[in-house]
Amino acid sequence: MPYDITLIPGDGTGPEIVAATRRAIEATGIAIRWDVVDIGLPAMEKLGEPFPKASLDSVRKNRVALKGPLTTELGTGMRSVNVALRKEFDLYANLRPAKTYRGVNAPLGDLDLVVVRENIEDLYSGIEFDVGTKEAADIRDAIVKAGGARIREDAAIAIKYISDFGSRRIVKFAFDYARANKRRKVTAVHKSNIMKFADGLFLKVAGEVAKDYPEIEFEDRIVDNMCMQLVQKPDLYDVLVLPNLYGDIVSDLCAGLVGGLGVAPGANIGANGIAVFEAIHGSAPRYAGQNKVNPMALMLTGVLMLRHIGERAAGDALEAAITAVVAEGKDVTYDLKPKRDDPTAVGTKEFADAVIRRLKKQA
Ligand code: NAD
Repeated sequence: MPYDITLIPGDGTGPEIVAATRRAIEATGIAIRWDVVDIGLPAMEKLGEPFPKASLDSVRKNRVALKGPLTTELGTGMRSVNVALRKEFDLYANLRPAKTYRGVNAPLGDLDLVVVRENIEDLYSGIEFDVGTKEAADIRDAIVKAGGARIREDAAIAIKYISDFGSRRIVKFAFDYARANKRRKVTAVHKSNIMKFADGLFLKVAGEVAKDYPEIEFEDRIVDNMCMQLVQKPDLYDVLVLPNLYGDIVSDLCAGLVGGLGVAPGANIGANGIAVFEAIHGSAPRYAGQNKVNPMALMLTGVLMLRHIGERAAGDALEAAITAVVAEGKDVTYDLKPKRDDPTAVGTKEFADAVIRRLKKQA
């Protein structure tokens, strides 16, 4: 029986890297019935709405989606179609492995970290009040009444919240991932020295959850110190679990440490078994239609997806093929060449061809 998986090509360079990744996944021999649907900008253009019901229903029904990047500026007043999608399916866990591959220029040498970012709460909940609005004034008054500091009238206000529920499930996700993937340590990252209640709660809950996983080491780091340590001694760390904002920033730092956005995969996983797999990078619109950008990050995302659906051997084979092509350094895109204007760089399609040739050789 083939797997039913929703395929969202995205926009900008999305359709090109999605097509390349689809071919590479299919070359592993796993039978997949793709349901190709649009959301975001392409859906706006074709159907006049960013979230067509049929597209969302497809994700809901298939429970697994592979997604290309989506440009966030829609002119609909919607903050981000990506954030909205995460909320729609309560995709609370953002998994971002950061691993070095031979042939990719990693500034600090070998690294193998996993960042687990909470995806729903914190400053990204979208609760904001603009300067000069009645709502902002009401909030300012309420804060003064509650004994808080007076906020200047010319301030915009964004609300950060962190719950016991949200913290518990993301930390549990990090430990479950560590256990399933034989990782040795989980580090909770926070700023509880300043945000004693919000980040303090995250840290307290993390410590409680850790007790259920005695075989996995647990420690915590303050986020600023964490950033410095990641640059100075990244090998001390293994799985990091962070609230939303720190997770966003630290995972890009980790992507930089393993060679940049072109090589960093990701997954958004929900409580109800729905998972949307997407690379960290955006739609890189200035390269759209040029058969230029690197599909490696989305292909590695495909590896995560294959493992998620239980096809671990196929995932391992695809990762091995990508690893071999990149280590050889011949059929790789411009960003993986020593000089970005290297005339021997191949395009998105040709990189996929090389990975597929390698998969066939391995079989
Ligand atoms: P971006 O990741 O699209 O591109 C930044 C730069 O990174 C590019 O100019 C390019 O040099 C490099 N890059 C990115 N992907 C690459 C690849 N596969 N191969 C080689 N080089 C690559 O970031 P941006 O320009 O800030 O964002 C463009 C749009 O994408 C924005 O609308 C943004 O909101 C959106 N975005 C979407 C997602 C998502 O869909 N999950 C994530 C991030 C950004």
